[in-house]
Amino acid sequence: MAKHTNQRDYYEILGVTRTASVEEIKAAYRKCALKWHPDRNPENKAEAEVKFRESTEAYSILSDQQKRQVYDTYGHAGLSGAGGAGVDFNGTIFQDFHDIFGDFFGFEDMFSGGGRGRGRGRAQRGADLRYDMTLTFEEASAGVNTKVKLPRQEYCAACNGTGAKKGTGVVACQTCAGRGQLAYQQGFFTITRTCPACQGAGQIVKERCAECRGQGRIEREKTIELRIPPGVDTGTRLRVAGEGEPGPNGGPTGDLYVVLEVKEHSFFERRGADLYCTIPVSIAQATLGTELQVPGLNGEERLKIPEGTQSGAVFRLRGKGLADPRGGGKGDLYYHVRVLTPTKLTREQRKLIEELGASLKVENKPAERNSSIFDKVKDIFG
Ligand SMILES: [Zn+2]
Ligand SMILES: [Zn+2]
Repeated sequence: MAKHTNQRDYYEILGVTRTASVEEIKAAYRKCALKWHPDRNPENKAEAEVKFRESTEAYSILSDQQKRQVYDTYGHAGLSGAGGAGVDFNGTIFQDFHDIFGDFFGFEDMFSGGGRGRGRGRAQRGADLRYDMTLTFEEASAGVNTKVKLPRQEYCAACNGTGAKKGTGVVACQTCAGRGQLAYQQGFFTITRTCPACQGAGQIVKERCAECRGQGRIEREKTIELRIPPGVDTGTRLRVAGEGEPGPNGGPTGDLYVVLEVKEHSFFERRGADLYCTIPVSIAQATLGTELQVPGLNGEERLKIPEGTQSGAVFRLRGKGLADPRGGGKGDLYYHVRVLTPTKLTREQRKLIEELGASLKVENKPAERNSSIFDKVKDIFG
């Protein structure tokens, strides 16, 4: 849809900082829109229209928290792409504009080339829906195909979405002569108002459809299949295009956003795509070295503890962490070794430790501050 090359930065277009509040963005857009409205730039109409569209597009993204987040993270690429989130620019632009200015400008006429046909009313984009979903750590790790049931507005089949009882039909609204809007001149501008008699539909139902009580829509439960990619995390937002609510008057359908929460694992700690796991070993194992079977993400892994391993040593299994849901590489799996000091000894064990202690010499001086945690990382295969 809005596919441009060399697109300008939306913040730059509106002249706001990246941390600007919604109110600041709104105010900046209002300023741009008033400045670049083609009716106000009769000698320079073509350029004004480009600028006007540009600022309107910037506003439509930055005023929508979800879209703004996508834009902040991925730039323009995130908004036009096939995967991840996207933006239906054309669908919301008029609505957004009306939210700010009401019907102050003859706005639709300017972009749609004069009306959208008599008696059809204003097409609007349907509402986006949000669905919160909780996944187990394992589901998030492996990815999952699942089905969710969502209550949704759908078109009433009995009346074809018209809201009129079968056979009775609709009549054109007399107040607006079926246009859905009332237009009149005021100074420079042609002011267009949504017709109050028909709420912009341009038509009035003679007798209401019993199924939907004249709404033209019915709430139904719909089953939607979700493909959740591996590696998702709490806060991951998946967009399912076109599974929101239908748009009034035949407008485009909104989108469904699935917002994920991932439960914590009992012993894997997650940092991005990397996983951390603490493995206790005995003094003897740490001193003499050993080989352990340890839990991995997909079954067991072999962890070689070399002779003389210190408590706190960290071993890395490259590429054994979580997947990147956006299709990057895999994270690493870290095993953090903790040498357990025995707290309950038999008399015999105590005697052995005492004998050992007598022959082991350690300088009990403060250790130098030279080893970060990363110096302790050792690659198991490296
Ligand atoms: Zn109906
Ligand atoms: Zn009307």
